[in-house]
Amino acid sequence: MLTMLCHRALIALALLAAACSPPEPSTSPSHSPSPSSPPPAAERATADRPDDVSGYQIHAMYVLPSDGDDSELDVRGSIETSVMAFNSWLAQQSGGAHLRLDTYHGRLDVTFLRLEAGDDALATAGAYLLNVLQYELKAHGFDDPHKLYAVYYGGRSEWACGYGAWPPSQPGTLAVRAIGPGSYHRDPGAPCWTGDQLTPSVDDSRYLEFGMLHEMLHTMGFVAECAPSHALAGHTADGPQDLMYSGPETWQPAALDLGRDDYFQHGNPDCPDLARSAFLKPLPQGAQSPVGWQQSVARKGTSLRDIRYYLDHALTVVNNGNRNMQVFRVVDGAERLATGVHAGDSKVLLQPDEGATWRVRDEQSAEVLLEFSSDGEAQLVEIP
Ligand SMILES: [Zn+2]
Repeated sequence: MLTMLCHRALIALALLAAACSPPEPSTSPSHSPSPSSPPPAAERATADRPDDVSGYQIHAMYVLPSDGDDSELDVRGSIETSVMAFNSWLAQQSGGAHLRLDTYHGRLDVTFLRLEAGDDALATAGAYLLNVLQYELKAHGFDDPHKLYAVYYGGRSEWACGYGAWPPSQPGTLAVRAIGPGSYHRDPGAPCWTGDQLTPSVDDSRYLEFGMLHEMLHTMGFVAECAPSHALAGHTADGPQDLMYSGPETWQPAALDLGRDDYFQHGNPDCPDLARSAFLKPLPQGAQSPVGWQQSVARKGTSLRDIRYYLDHALTVVNNGNRNMQVFRVVDGAERLATGVHAGDSKVLLQPDEGATWRVRDEQSAEVLLEFSSDGEAQLVEIP
């Protein structure tokens, strides 16, 4: 009986989180026109293109059922504008920090994916649409352990308007906004949007953009249960203006962590904080990988093999963690110690020669995840 009760409780929790995103309020706030214009059209990509940076990042996707209408939101730049809009809002709220995006040659790398299943079949997943899409993306190879997939789903949702994971309780790497025709929120049965779906301006984050950011924070593990105002599996009860609010009032997102006590800059080292997330740019001191994400520090992001692709001149290694690091040059498969970099220190290495491979290890010889940036810095991300 106890087992059964627990199982029921777990299901209830899953449904709460999955159905976390309410429909658009009927009274839409007015938006002032903006001079910013959408970026020019891009080529369609059906695979994740080479990354400008490594490490934790947001990868945007335009996903359609087999029979879904193709609005070309990827090639028309609509998704790029939408992502830039919520990231710009985040930077305003945070004082500059924003999410690290997966870009290709400086433009947002948006992948187009058409699924084998049809719209009706996928809609029957109901509260489990997130699980189905997670499975489908993984089956198509979109399972980079350092990427959070922001999915603009052009199919119909009949349960919620957005879906996010909530690790460690509900692991997953997807955040989903339903933008397909006929999508509605089961409770209270309202359509997921009225009027424009995606914002036409990077300066004007709107309902759908807030919704996507809300789901993405869930997938990064926020709001954690240790937060003082935690409510309803991953939300806050601080008020409807909070980005992560859920409750009886109509959601009117306008603030990142009201009171700064639950998920951003709260100062409690024992509770996850977006301000310390390895998803942020610039990378915070002692950046933390998301709790509950599968850790994979091998291969990708742990060596500087493709250094010429990123760097023209010297390489600066910045140790943002609290462990001392050792940098090795790999020659014919063997590692030779090049230098050490103390915690909190940085060091200009060498003139990297073409094809050189570098590897960084901590004092226990474990490989350390590296962040590349195009300005010649490789930063070390702390792996808990
Ligand atoms: Zn939610």
